[in-house]
Amino acid sequence: MPVIRPLPEDVASRIAAGEVIERPASVLKELLENSLDAGASKIVVEIEGAGRKLLRIVDDGAGMDPEDCRAAFERHSTSKIKKLKDLDTLSTFGFRGEALFSIAAVSKVALTSRRTNSKKAWRVEMSGGRLKKEHEAPPVEGTAIEVRDLFFNTPARAKFLKSDASERGQLARVMEEAALANPRVAFECRSEGKTTLRFPARKEKKDVDASRERAAEVLGEERGDALLYAERSSAALSLRGFLSPVEKLHSSRQLQYLFVNRRPVSNRTIQQALYRAYEPFRQKNRHPVAVLFLETPADALDVNVHPTKREVRFRSDGDIFQTVTKALSKALLESKGIPTLTPEPLSFASMPAPRGGSPVREAVAAYKAGAGAPTQRAPMWPSKSPAPAPARDARPWFDESLRYLGQIERAYLVFEADGGILLVDQHAAQERVLFERYFSEIRDGEVREQKLMLPLPIELPASGIQRVLALEERLGRAGFAVEPFGKTTLHVTAVPAVLHKAGEIEDAVHRLLDELTDPKAAAADSRYDATATIACKASVKAHDRLSEKEALRLVEDLRKCEDATCCPHGRPSMLSLGREELARRFKRPGAPPL
Ligand code: ADP
Ligand code: MG
Repeated sequence: MPVIRPLPEDVASRIAAGEVIERPASVLKELLENSLDAGASKIVVEIEGAGRKLLRIVDDGAGMDPEDCRAAFERHSTSKIKKLKDLDTLSTFGFRGEALFSIAAVSKVALTSRRTNSKKAWRVEMSGGRLKKEHEAPPVEGTAIEVRDLFFNTPARAKFLKSDASERGQLARVMEEAALANPRVAFECRSEGKTTLRFPARKEKKDVDASRERAAEVLGEERGDALLYAERSSAALSLRGFLSPVEKLHSSRQLQYLFVNRRPVSNRTIQQALYRAYEPFRQKNRHPVAVLFLETPADALDVNVHPTKREVRFRSDGDIFQTVTKALSKALLESKGIPTLTPEPLSFASMPAPRGGSPVREAVAAYKAGAGAPTQRAPMWPSKSPAPAPARDARPWFDESLRYLGQIERAYLVFEADGGILLVDQHAAQERVLFERYFSEIRDGEVREQKLMLPLPIELPASGIQRVLALEERLGRAGFAVEPFGKTTLHVTAVPAVLHKAGEIEDAVHRLLDELTDPKAAAADSRYDATATIACKASVKAHDRLSEKEALRLVEDLRKCEDATCCPHGRPSMLSLGREELARRFKRPGAPPL
């Protein structure tokens, strides 16, 4: 008996309308949702030509009658709701009856389906929205749908697609999201003839165990094994989540998967709550790994905000924020074994400023105000208020008389210079030197590459790997060579020669990827900037003991830099205490008074 019906006009017109098919990943998302809505227990996906050429989705779900196979392609025809009120009790992913219509309009689709208990299958072929053929077909288990030549009749839209690697990355992300939210369902994906994902149906008794196992499969075993569990429910909301312990944060925010009623969503409230929970422990540029599932009654939520349903609106954002923050904070604090009453972390901003203002900020301000190294005055001995503008040493800081005196805390180099003292922050100085060297190597296309004896494995979800591969060429220019190794591992086989400390390569690569895939850093130059900064940062060894020769060499290198006075991040690389200032401080006869 056919069950797909057109929605009454008034219902259809009140459902968020719009084009949902932007790229292969949007087709895949809609088709996976249809298979899940049909109760499939196994879904097999095949991808060719990054989804432009072919997307085939085969499920073992409930299937359709011949009549429904045809009706499925009508606009606003659905078996899932009948009236607007049904949205309040919605339990399916779909409800707009528009996906198959929209997909068929821009591709060549063949759908074969057999309703459970029926002996025969039916096949419908569409092209550019028109019915081409329909006939009986050899039986299939549930529904098989093939989408070929996406956007063949809308070349303008095809132009908006990104590189194959980028489209593949988005396809992989869609698979991962579906797999995370549906651990009892088996997923398999073949891309360009190779199996790229295979998640067997999780059979664990408890749902939470099934979810955890699936999360580990998606995120990679090592990361998966470390995941903490958080849980909390209130009247209107329940939360279950897996999250990284505070010492295992990630260098990008891309390992965050948020679901509301099993739908993958982007939602600021949830994301802010996640970051709030990590706030006391998180360093800049480190991000939580999280798979969070929120369940709310359908009427506490509006999924009808945007046609792709990627955005949701909560009736009460405040409750969501509180519940999520509390649940996650508790899990994090318990795992650290510290009491839940944490004081505000100390920061410069909250420290009382010494008389004459914050020495560090004064020094930095002095720096920014003009050329040359700032003098010692503000940083070392806060002067009496009101603070005079910090004096600046106009003489060149470097001259032949430079004499190395020693090292403090294996962090600062002390020199005698022209009768005064020059202090160099060796970390900041090395960073500056390497930054400029590496930056010019990239600019001139002459990055020195260093092959690794053993490839360095980096664990990433398949979508992350695709993202990296999409940047392969740019990474190559920056001296990195990468290749996929298995489904959730990437091998780094070469790194720029400046990046030599193996333990930090992984971190550097993650930071790089985060920067390079950040849409905000769109300009090519800023990306190179980021590349150089990140790679250099990771290559600098803090707290190394330097010999006199190395110290002098570093200062010599620094002298050749275009901007020697600060590290690429703007921190000062040196301070000086001039001859006159020394005399003044020691109240030498004839010295100007303090
Ligand atoms: P919606 O999912 O919003 O109802 P679609 O255009 O995605 O709209 O699908 C239209 C109808 O086709 C669905 O309501 C469903 O009845 C049927 N259908 C689509 N895909 C499948 C499938 N894989 N298995 C069974 N039925 C399906
Ligand atoms: Mg649908």
